[in-house]
Amino acid sequence: MQDGGSYAGCSETKYIDISDNDTIAAISTPFGTGGIGIVRVSGPGAFDIAARIFRSKRQFAEIGTHTVTHGKIIDPADGRLLDDVLLIKMGAPHTFTAEDIVEISCHGGIVILKNVLSLVLRQGARPAGPGEFTRRAFINGKMDLTQAEAVIDLINSKTDEGSRAAADQLEGRLSARIVSARKKLIALIAHIEAVLEYPEYDIEELTAEKINKEVKTVKEELSGIAEGYDRGRLIREGLTAAIVGKPNAGKSSLMNTLSGGERAIVTDVPGTTRDIIEEYINVNGIPVRLLDTAGIRSTSDPVESIGVERAKTAAGNADLVLVMLDAQTGILPEDHDIISSVGEKKRIIIINKTDMSDDSRIEEMKRQLAAFGEKQVVAASLLNGTGIDELFDVISELFLKGAIDQNNEVLITNARHKQLLDSAIKCLDAAESAQAGGLPLDFVTIDIKECADALGQITGESVSEDVLHEIFSRFCIGK
Ligand code: GDP
Repeated sequence: MQDGGSYAGCSETKYIDISDNDTIAAISTPFGTGGIGIVRVSGPGAFDIAARIFRSKRQFAEIGTHTVTHGKIIDPADGRLLDDVLLIKMGAPHTFTAEDIVEISCHGGIVILKNVLSLVLRQGARPAGPGEFTRRAFINGKMDLTQAEAVIDLINSKTDEGSRAAADQLEGRLSARIVSARKKLIALIAHIEAVLEYPEYDIEELTAEKINKEVKTVKEELSGIAEGYDRGRLIREGLTAAIVGKPNAGKSSLMNTLSGGERAIVTDVPGTTRDIIEEYINVNGIPVRLLDTAGIRSTSDPVESIGVERAKTAAGNADLVLVMLDAQTGILPEDHDIISSVGEKKRIIIINKTDMSDDSRIEEMKRQLAAFGEKQVVAASLLNGTGIDELFDVISELFLKGAIDQNNEVLITNARHKQLLDSAIKCLDAAESAQAGGLPLDFVTIDIKECADALGQITGESVSEDVLHEIFSRFCIGK
């Protein structure tokens, strides 16, 4: 799971000692001054707390569920008025957490929100941990683990595509595929175990071929899902691109053009960008962290040397390097040095300042670059704003290999899911080897069970009980 935001960091370990049955409260809107801010309370004591602190024309008990009521928050200890609010009362179980929930929409000042929250806490709620409302939604069966994780991803998504992938996951598209694969495995285990344990019953004979076929089908399904990870991760986490090139090639201008701002320093005195400047941009749905580095060149100026080192480091850590060349000067030996220092990194060569050069020179530069084995070359004039669309297309082609097929692909974006999918696939490999090696069926079952367990961990289900349940319900054994 990723960090940041009020849902962030809801890793399993943080919750080992906490109760899921008490009443929790938190400020659910970002800290800062805004039009409104919301204090959210969930749990069995939510309504009692609200009844003690909320005054409106009607008694709290008479307010209908899922309605909004105007009133005042008053501290019962001293009668102090804290705020004039709108209160939403939502009765269990048809709420996000499946518990009683009260949401108090206050005026959005930090002090007001803190005062209202602290009053709620004094009345018996405890402060909610990160992601705890979502955790309760999971614990109370409102959603499975992948959906709970999607809530966080949706909140943290940086681009439209990222939010679409998270929304799909929240809707249960990933769970549906995992659950269906897992069901097939559980049915298979149930069948094998029935054959092994109850040979006297007339259970359809399981041939090795049948087991192999079923295992292969599930493995293909899982591999298909796992393959979406690189694309999913890219859409969720984005990539880092470093702009490198000799001084005056146009690195800062590229940064400014792409970010639409004036953050990078643009000047015609070589070597003035001494530090690394970063901006976030959206390249066809991929969040790209763009780093503008100091001009890479041999220098004796100590301040500038630091910049050169940083540039090399930035290029070393980046997922993509954008190498700026100057069409006015052509390809100089220092350009060759820069390109070589990039090494095997994915890179795009940008021939900038095409407005200052003629077509034949640009074609000659392209020919030379092709001869050096450079595959991605884009001609641009940052002055005239040409070449940017092509650059974006080349970036998305390089990393996504074409457009994202939102209709047919479930994009997994979560490292936990990927890891569990990989181990599930490994278990099926092992099952296939056990089967091919002529090992007894028990061995095959162990591997398939492990696979089902890994899948169950993705959605948050428990495996062993399900397997038992499946055996007894499908074959009516013991009747
Ligand atoms: P850096 O040192 O690589 O960061 O280069 P800058 O972005 O500071 O640009 C150096 C100079 O080149 C500035 O005067 C820019 O205005 C100019 N420049 C950048 N791109 C272009 C371009 O496409 N055409 C022309 N004619 N000038 C450009």
